[in-house]
Amino acid sequence: MQKNHNKKMSLTMQIMIAMISGGLLGLALNLWFAENSFIQNFIIDGLFNVVGTIFVSSLKMMVVPLVMVSLITGVTSLGDINALGRIGGKALLLYLLTTAVAITLALSIAVTFDPGAGFEMENAQTEFAAGEPPALSKVLIDMVPTNPISAMAEGSMLQIIVFALLFGIAITLTGEKGRHVLNFFNDLNVVIMKMVEILMKLAPFGVFCLIAKTFAGQGLELLAPLAKYFLVMVAALGLHAIGTFSLLLSLVGRLSPWLFFNKIRAILAFAFSTASSNATIPITLRTVESRLGANNSVASFTVPLGATINMDGTAIMQGVATVFIASVYGVDLSMNDYLTVILTATLASIGTAGVPGVGLIMLAMVLGEVGLPTEGIALIIGVDRLLDMIRTAVNVTGDATVTCLIAKSENALDETIFNDPQAGLLENEAEDVDAEQNSLLDNEK
Ligand code: ASP
Repeated sequence: MQKNHNKKMSLTMQIMIAMISGGLLGLALNLWFAENSFIQNFIIDGLFNVVGTIFVSSLKMMVVPLVMVSLITGVTSLGDINALGRIGGKALLLYLLTTAVAITLALSIAVTFDPGAGFEMENAQTEFAAGEPPALSKVLIDMVPTNPISAMAEGSMLQIIVFALLFGIAITLTGEKGRHVLNFFNDLNVVIMKMVEILMKLAPFGVFCLIAKTFAGQGLELLAPLAKYFLVMVAALGLHAIGTFSLLLSLVGRLSPWLFFNKIRAILAFAFSTASSNATIPITLRTVESRLGANNSVASFTVPLGATINMDGTAIMQGVATVFIASVYGVDLSMNDYLTVILTATLASIGTAGVPGVGLIMLAMVLGEVGLPTEGIALIIGVDRLLDMIRTAVNVTGDATVTCLIAKSENALDETIFNDPQAGLLENEAEDVDAEQNSLLDNEK
């Protein structure tokens, strides 16, 4: 049967249109209706706020059950516990390496273009209260939960990962006696993935409202004094996202970056509109498995781990921001300082969860390490919300790239799925069900 995919606009296309029209509407409201209390109270803080927040909450709602169940089934499907150590080692190495490359790239670009030159101090806000970044030793200690239920209730990702890994290993080692538990989790995984797919179909509305609300509140007037900072940041983010990841995919993974980026557009839109790698986990996981062909045994581990410890976009922000703040305060950074920034930012990304605005807390830590005032963060805060959205998209691109690379190296990447532009599209579902039923009928004949 010939499939006709043109009948309906694809979901990704709908999400893209929602993003652009939401952004334009938000800007228009900001420009022309900032004083209109009806628009402010009922449309922006009312409708957009309610629908947008419900959308993000519904994604967050899926994160803990999905990571828990998917990781348990992933570990058990590996069968071989040694493979787990190997995948973990590769993931850690690649995540740290790509983050270090990201921040090195950011520092080089920032030093070359000096975004702080000519910046007028009086244009800036000066209020910023730095949060406390966690110490690395505490991050390590906290990885093991004292109570798995409270870890799940709190959504502590590393703790959930540790518990789920152990649970999965135990099921594998139990063998025949654990079969019922294993079957239960396998079935549950299918059901939870279906929930994610249902929510994805609502994305155009959620994305539209979130973006419209953000742009209505943000406007572009804060951008002007920080235009150079903003542009250097976007250039560094873009270069890493397109350059580094494409090189890795094509040279190391022998995979087409073109197909990869085409297929992850939906993840990028979710990450951009929610500014949270964590809330995007369900979409990232579904996309790398169903659209890119990564096996659950790898993806269920690398995706939540990446959303927690891998933040290339955030590291880039720290590099550019450090150079910017140093330049505005007239401080010369030495080679030693740059190395300290690379090391601190790479390590800091491990300890902080992928939620909106967390990058600023990490930045405070990096600035402190090289003796720059944390109040400097106030200078850049005006454009940080917008940059947070962009860097979160880069963060999740890194998670998806590393997942594909590891899956490929473990023979756990189905390249027929990766290379099929239509694979895993939600809008194909009806046809896939038809095809399945037809083949069942054929078999019965
Ligand atoms: N919002 C980013 C993320 O969720 C983290 C940050 O840079 O603030 O990945």
